[in-house]
Amino acid sequence: MMGNGDSRPGAWHGKAGTAGEIAYQQLKRQILTCELEPSTELRAGELAADTGFGRTPIREALTRLVHEGLVEVRPRQGYRVQEITAVGVREAHELRLLLEPAAVELAIERATDAELEALHDLAHASYDHGDRETYERFVLENRQFHVRLAAYGNRRLASVLERLMEDLQRLYFRSLSFQDTAGEQMHEHHELYDAVIGRDVPTARSICVEQIQASHERVIETLLNDLTGPALRQAHAVLHTQLTPHLRRPHTTSGHW
Ligand SMILES: [Zn+2]
Repeated sequence: MMGNGDSRPGAWHGKAGTAGEIAYQQLKRQILTCELEPSTELRAGELAADTGFGRTPIREALTRLVHEGLVEVRPRQGYRVQEITAVGVREAHELRLLLEPAAVELAIERATDAELEALHDLAHASYDHGDRETYERFVLENRQFHVRLAAYGNRRLASVLERLMEDLQRLYFRSLSFQDTAGEQMHEHHELYDAVIGRDVPTARSICVEQIQASHERVIETLLNDLTGPALRQAHAVLHTQLTPHLRRPHTTSGHW
């Protein structure tokens, strides 16, 4: 069930390393692409046997993934792929709403023309609905676009954003197969790119806010489709409260921060 060494673009930081590093990259990729579904039990012994990595590298990998919040460890029951909850999704998007428009504004103030223009290809990346291979590449290029743009403004802020987008990546990935939003997402990126190149702060900020809201809606819809029972009821409750209202359009409340 486990893949072999993988050189596709979605194999994160695919540099050769120790067995623990490779096991970590491989497991992480499988979790982020939902090849290993949320709530899947992970038995270190079986993983070691399936992958041929041995127990120590697998334990190392699992420990790192627990630290990153992608795997949880439960007393006497072992490891499990972290569930995705509606509250977690909302929190991550609320944080994106606070951070990303500010980062885009700083990037417009601080980046050179050449730096901004270097984002052209990432901003125009796309995927083919129905072709899973292209989803993995797109999800990665999408994240790079947002994070590189933010990093021109503030590198620390960009690293927090990167972590947030990684947290959401499993749902981004699922949402691509759930419905075809390629056109919508391309349009969002082209608009943001054009606003940034034109150094138009108010437009860039408002596109950024709309984009995060649209992303939140796509992800929540995907989640509603996946869930059952109490988790589904919780997701409905989250859907009805929506994102915290004063976070929804920060550029219209205080104007500048
Ligand atoms: Zn995007």
